[in-house]
Amino acid sequence: MTLLEGKPIAANIQEQIKARIKGLKSAPVLASIMVGDNPGAESYVKSQNKLAQALGIDYRFNKLPADTSEAGLLDIIKKLNADSSINGIIIQMPLPAQIDYKKISGFIAPSKDIEGMNPANIGKVLFGKAKILPCTAASCMELINATGIDLCGKEVVIVGHSEIVGKPLSLMLLDRLATVTVCHIGTSKAGKLEEHVRKAEILVVAVGKAGLIKGEWVRQGAAVIDVGINRVNDKIVGDVEFDEAQKRAGWITPVPGGVGPLTVTMLMRNVVEAAANGDR
Ligand code: NAD
Repeated sequence: MTLLEGKPIAANIQEQIKARIKGLKSAPVLASIMVGDNPGAESYVKSQNKLAQALGIDYRFNKLPADTSEAGLLDIIKKLNADSSINGIIIQMPLPAQIDYKKISGFIAPSKDIEGMNPANIGKVLFGKAKILPCTAASCMELINATGIDLCGKEVVIVGHSEIVGKPLSLMLLDRLATVTVCHIGTSKAGKLEEHVRKAEILVVAVGKAGLIKGEWVRQGAAVIDVGINRVNDKIVGDVEFDEAQKRAGWITPVPGGVGPLTVTMLMRNVVEAAANGDR
């Protein structure tokens, strides 16, 4: 069994990012907006800021009061869209109840949507033409690539059909000619989750339920990418029963230490991609 750790893969991609930045006319600029206080978002902002600095990306953080209205945030986004010195915009989650993320994110100019969630960018994923990919789905793809498995015709099972992981990843994998099955709550309700998981040569799980995937369901030699983050007795664990699964898997991501360390790197890769497009 090979442990699929995110850090070495991220380090490699970070070197490529640095090399790309050297070729740009000026340092890429990322505008980050946070509305109100949230400890989780604050720690995510810290890690974004740290990596941006290490790579040579100008990270401009804007913190807005918790009572900022949707219209107020929209005005700020419009200004950032119009400011040619800004290459990328990220809105930190969660947002206060008065602001609808889906609505707001649709207003970020597609060329500056470095989370890859604007419908125009998701549309490009559908056509296999996206250069800016949703960060978590892109992280999963990098981990799968690191196994060296030829995806053509492989049975890939994704558990979780969220807009940030399962849905975009399924399109990316179809583009690589994998046979993709996407499972979700409906699959479990129908009592068919185990049956699908057992046939997976590549299994990606993004649900947020510790121990949902029994280790004994994992197919011998499978690659297992566990995206889930769950706190159990003060420990962070994934969605897959790791101890049992690792006895059967050919590759498996640890939690923490698998997908997590890659997502911020994917974000920075998108910023540089956006800046490079602006350079052309
Ligand atoms: P989400 O919460 O938007 O959706 C959950 C998905 O799980 C849905 O498709 C739902 O149908 C499915 N589901 C729920 N219960 C199920 C069950 N019993 N059986 C089968 N499917 C079931 O998902 P998300 O936002 O993609 O997050 C999923 C997990 O991934 C969370 O633990 C989240 O914290 C984690 N996550 C990690 C990273 C990272 O960088 N490591 C990034 C994003 C999300």
